[in-house]
Amino acid sequence: MRVGIVGDGIAGRTLYRILKIRGFQVDLYGQEKYTRCDIRPCGFATDASCINLVGKLGVSPQEYVLRRDNYIRMNGRRIKGDLYWIEKPKLLEAIATDIRYDKPDIDDYDVLVDATGIARVYSPVIPDFNDKKGISCQHRVILNGYVAPAFDVIRGGYLWTIPLGEREAHVGGGSTILPSNAVQQLVLDHVKEMKPNEIVCSCSESVRLSGPIFPVVSDKVITVGESAGLVVSFGAAGIHTAFESAIILADHIYEGDVTGYDKAIRRRFGWLRGIRKIWDSVEKGQVTLLSLGASYRALRYQGLKPTLMDLLYIRKALIEANK
Ligand SMILES: Cc1cc2nc3c(=O)[nH]c(=O)nc-3n(C[C@H](O)[C@H](O)[C@H](O)COP(=O)(O)OP(=O)(O)OC[C@H]3O[C@@H](n4cnc5c(N)ncnc54)[C@H](O)[C@@H]3O)c2cc1C
Repeated sequence: MRVGIVGDGIAGRTLYRILKIRGFQVDLYGQEKYTRCDIRPCGFATDASCINLVGKLGVSPQEYVLRRDNYIRMNGRRIKGDLYWIEKPKLLEAIATDIRYDKPDIDDYDVLVDATGIARVYSPVIPDFNDKKGISCQHRVILNGYVAPAFDVIRGGYLWTIPLGEREAHVGGGSTILPSNAVQQLVLDHVKEMKPNEIVCSCSESVRLSGPIFPVVSDKVITVGESAGLVVSFGAAGIHTAFESAIILADHIYEGDVTGYDKAIRRRFGWLRGIRKIWDSVEKGQVTLLSLGASYRALRYQGLKPTLMDLLYIRKALIEANK
């Protein structure tokens, strides 16, 4: 089976690496980037289970961990967790570097994998599917003092401070409701409050928060990672899901059962549909007590270990910011 993979993010590179090791004829296509770090904009936050997955690729994940924290401050409240802040550009390079920058000819392949993230270039348009994107931007800053990891709720999203070492951080924000200039202003105000020594670079991009887009197999095109909507809408985590979905796809290609991949993704990530519904309600300032169980699952997937009191606190913050 000849496999073409379009998209040189986590999903595309992970799939490429595994298939190459397993002896497949596989090509990986990428695109020039505009960012200073030469990857698609990302905060670089992930969790312990994701780090374990990286280990399975034959890459030593610890080499790419900038810092590990056992808590995060959400609207000032300390919430326990096991959180990793990673040097994602270097990690991507360690996974795969053999990238082509020409355009793939679909006829050259038995299977073409769409791993193009927000662009979703090769996947079919799904009629009546209500896509949802969050507008986001961030600055990489060097601060005077120690950086504490933090998320602060805003309308339709949140502001983040993601440590990239002792005194360096990604300070950004995103929203599914606010217009781009409002998000940019909120983020800039947040950065100014921190009185940084230096703004190293800035970037902005949308993140798909639609929940899974099925089917993920359509003729010879297979969709993986963020292209397939596999991002946790409640938190916008897409690194872990990109790794996981690529590993699931690699196993199905290896077994020659690509149609089984669709079922496997429905089984593993079907719950993300419920998380998208919760976010739809959050936008209206409604967070039911019944949704706390699903919210807990979403936060656990992202490495947090919230107590019931934490969940109630976050719920109140979300309702207040969105009413
Ligand atoms: C500002 C921001 C901050 C974020 N922070 C976090 C975070 O801290 N933690 C987290 O878990 N998630 C975060 N996310 C989400 C996360 O980055 C993505 O969900 C995740 O990277 C998805 O991986 P992927 O491989 O599916 O897609 P991507 O990482 O988007 O990779 C897709 C790749 O395809 C390339 N491409 C697109 N079109 C073409 C084409 N036509 N031909 C060739 N190549 C193409 C793109 O350049 C890109 O490199 C953030 C997103 C944004 C926008």
